[in-house]
Amino acid sequence: MAEMVHVSRHPLALDKVTRLRDTRTLPKEFRELVADLARLLFVEASADLPVTSIQVTTPMATCTGHVVAARIGLFPILRAGLGMANAILDLVPTAQVWHLGLYRDHESLEPVEYYNKLPAELDIDLAIVLDPMLATGGSASVVMEILTKRRISRIKFLGLIAAPEGVDRIREEFPDVPLHLAALDSHLNEIGYIVPGLGDAGDRQFAT
Ligand code: URA
Repeated sequence: MAEMVHVSRHPLALDKVTRLRDTRTLPKEFRELVADLARLLFVEASADLPVTSIQVTTPMATCTGHVVAARIGLFPILRAGLGMANAILDLVPTAQVWHLGLYRDHESLEPVEYYNKLPAELDIDLAIVLDPMLATGGSASVVMEILTKRRISRIKFLGLIAAPEGVDRIREEFPDVPLHLAALDSHLNEIGYIVPGLGDAGDRQFAT
């Protein structure tokens, strides 16, 4: 199990997640930190992408180079995952982005789907689910189920902060999906927030 849960120990990730948590961090800086962390985690999570060789001509000579040989799909969970998707697109501009809208019912804490325009067939080799907060794991589980039904066999999850409850759920339901995180926190509180966490990731990005 341990090798499927990657909690970044990169000094920049440690620094940025600490500033993200701070109540004094205002939305502009918060969005920048979300973007920086998403890119750092994506670099770690994409280290095993396949490449193919090509010939490239420089001003000096022709040599062998490499290009990424995987079609990547990003699946940001609305709305908090948006900032992560935009940042990762800087690194892989040709990635497909498929938005999925889910909100948590405040009473049951269960995810309710409100936006899903995914086609029956997806032309991708790797799906990356993006949600800053892996709390109960309910939303991530719904998205992974949607992808599994479309026969996407390679799925990864990128999140900034997770609770053990969410990690355990995804490990149990989707044991083949690696989780790439910037922090693994203590627990969920009675209203489903991660402790110590950072509060509401959507509200803090979008000043609502
Ligand atoms: N969603 C958030 O934005 N924050 C949490 O702590 C849990 C879920």
